[in-house]
Amino acid sequence: MSLMLLGLDYELFFGQRTGSVEHCMLHPTEALVAALEAANTRHSPKITLFVDACYLLRLKQLERQHPELQLRRSAIQRQLNQLSRKGHSIQLHIHPHWLDSDYRDGSWITDTNRYRLHDLDAGERTRLIIESKQLLEECSEADVFAYRAGGWCLQPFDQIADALSDAGIWMDSTVYADGLSEDPLRWFDFRGAPDKPHWTFDTNPLKEDEQGRFVELPISQQQVSPLFFWRMAWLKKFGNADDIKPFGDGASMVAHSAYYLERLTRHSAGPASIDGIKGDLLEDAWQQHCSDNPAGYFNVMGHPKALTQRSITRLVEFLERHQDVELVGFEELEHLKPEQLNTPEMPQLVLNQLEEQPKVHQPLKRAFG
Ligand SMILES: [Zn+2]
Repeated sequence: MSLMLLGLDYELFFGQRTGSVEHCMLHPTEALVAALEAANTRHSPKITLFVDACYLLRLKQLERQHPELQLRRSAIQRQLNQLSRKGHSIQLHIHPHWLDSDYRDGSWITDTNRYRLHDLDAGERTRLIIESKQLLEECSEADVFAYRAGGWCLQPFDQIADALSDAGIWMDSTVYADGLSEDPLRWFDFRGAPDKPHWTFDTNPLKEDEQGRFVELPISQQQVSPLFFWRMAWLKKFGNADDIKPFGDGASMVAHSAYYLERLTRHSAGPASIDGIKGDLLEDAWQQHCSDNPAGYFNVMGHPKALTQRSITRLVEFLERHQDVELVGFEELEHLKPEQLNTPEMPQLVLNQLEEQPKVHQPLKRAFG
């Protein structure tokens, strides 16, 4: 029996058009879960949603002025509660730029100047992480303990480690082998990560530390050839089949131009994913996992907004073909919690201490005041 995880970053878009909650979050998630429930598998497959909790906090803050935002938040929370009751897992994802984004005339004016958690000051960061986790726990029957960094911006981890640890987060699932982004605003560099199924670390996720406060559960790596990206570019331009059209109705942030060039010319290491037509590569990703990391979890990622009817079909076909692969939620990983962490968590105490300190940053006041 092999164990597979599917962690989907549940969020809107951050470019010119954010897209709608209905098409980026609710509907694709519903379609995916319905397809998994109908699949002919021995086990009942479970997914994990890494929920962009900062978006939920921002809705909560603005909903008095804009009642439609309250309806959206309720619809999201209802879906999360339902999924949690069915045994799916809810975990933490944060895109902090929502704190600075405004809602006017029915659409969002996104401000991505503070795109990384590291761009907030230490007090803001801690308050955001703790309040995010508390809000998600209202939508979940189980503990929220795992984190995935928005845009993979996890480093330098020592700047966010205390805040995550204070909030009771002890697992991260952001790293993938050889991951690298040279985009100056959204850089990350996972080269040199331990070649292990999972490991304990403290302030550097690339360095094992047995006494550390966190466990890294890396996303499986997948080598993708330039040919694949050419094919994807071709399909995007000329393909018109409905099954490769993503559910999401927004526009992504524009990446650094080197990003596209790099992918069209060189073999690149990416995370195993079911986004878009990458779902077609699921079998390849599995084969690579079986040779690279057979003792580990086959940890696949994606985004509801980027799913397509075809990627859902590919996933179901994969599970039906591999009856010995069980798709489980992150809740199944609780036994990986390091012993040294089995002490009571006191996030509320930390919040109270923060309340006693003056709040300096204006956007934070807006978000939490
Ligand atoms: Zn994200």
